[in-house]
Amino acid sequence: MIHLIWQLPLMWFAYSQITEIQHWPIAWQSLLMMAPYVISALGVFIAVWLNRAQPVMILLTLMALNAMLFYFLGQERHDISAQVAYPLLTILLPLSFFVWLIIPERGIQNKPYLFSAASIFAMLGVTFFWALEGLPIDLIKHLSMPVQNISMAIKIPMIGMVISLVILLLMLTRNAMCQRLKVLDNTLILVLILLMIGLNDFQTYGVMAWVSSLSALMILLAIIFDAHHMAYVDELTGLKGRRALFETFMGLGRKYSIAMMDIDHFKKFNDTYGHDIGDVVLRAVADNLAMIETGSVYRYGGEEFTVVLKGKTPEEAKPYLEQVRQAIEHMKLKVPVKNKMTEVKVTVSFGVAARDDTHKKPTQVMKAADEALYQAKQAGRNCTFISGEKTTKTPAKRIKQ
Ligand code: GH3
Ligand code: MG
Ligand code: MG
Repeated sequence: MIHLIWQLPLMWFAYSQITEIQHWPIAWQSLLMMAPYVISALGVFIAVWLNRAQPVMILLTLMALNAMLFYFLGQERHDISAQVAYPLLTILLPLSFFVWLIIPERGIQNKPYLFSAASIFAMLGVTFFWALEGLPIDLIKHLSMPVQNISMAIKIPMIGMVISLVILLLMLTRNAMCQRLKVLDNTLILVLILLMIGLNDFQTYGVMAWVSSLSALMILLAIIFDAHHMAYVDELTGLKGRRALFETFMGLGRKYSIAMMDIDHFKKFNDTYGHDIGDVVLRAVADNLAMIETGSVYRYGGEEFTVVLKGKTPEEAKPYLEQVRQAIEHMKLKVPVKNKMTEVKVTVSFGVAARDDTHKKPTQVMKAADEALYQAKQAGRNCTFISGEKTTKTPAKRIKQ
């Protein structure tokens, strides 16, 4: 949702310029005709670099759409193919976008994915060229039928209009149900709307090149945002990762606490229930930690997490950490063990430290928190320890693993 901040202004800008293109200087207009290819090619390059196949296919489709429109409709051809190309493209564009959206991303180096993507692309091309030559004239008239009795402004044929709307609805439903949504998934919906607006006005010089350029730009930005997300957010838990944590360190003031959290006896848990169930528990623990009322939460690595509490002393931070610790302790988690849903229990320990004269750097504070965590483990686990606090509980026997 946050990405609407850049998406909506770009959409509005694209839309508002549609009527202005004709008044642009001639040099700009001729540059504009190249822009969709240049921006798309740049996007393809970046997507390949980041090993993402989905944006590659979308951008290739965008380039093909422009090339076809220019070839069949750009030179005022009035033969039959020009009449068929337009309704066909208004149908094939939303269909192909939907296909690229729903095929799961497997990366550009994945041969089966590349093979199926290339086959679909070829199939779309063959359908297009076959329909240009092979469709009976009655059907063509039917396909080209405009939307009637609504508005003179709508030129997209009825069938293209209906298919686009149905596909937009399907895309919205799919995205609403999808758990790990990429920025590109939602951007694609806006791009399709923008392209349909452009297709509606394809006869006006430069309109299609303009909306395609802005579409390619939006896709390019989405690829970059997705790559950034991948680098900073941990895949398993959805929490920010270590890289983000160290960036936070750079902007910390003078008063802050850092807490380290570690799951108790997790190795044993994995050995008993298996790594997959361990992952489910890890995610549940992370979800609980993410709900902490103050502070920012990171997965430090493995089953260790870090909480940065700005403006808080360890004493002020402790009640919040304890709240999370107790929530995890009382978590009712059912997991499948030998095909039977079984309730499992898990506990965590915290160590917390603050910036002071001996620990001035965040990494030093973190180390002190880690030592406090070790004390918490020694004191029997399932508790929170402040750095420098005296151990009061009798040390628990270390369980051999
Ligand atoms: P302690 O109470 O002393 O922390 O005991 P422990 O067994 O939890 O010890 P330690 O923290 O050293 O154990 C780390 C274990 O966490 C090792 C590994 O099996 C498990 N682990 C680390 N990362 C993951 C992960 O991503 N998924 C799963 N399922 N297990 C993980
Ligand atoms: Mg550990
Ligand atoms: Mg542990």
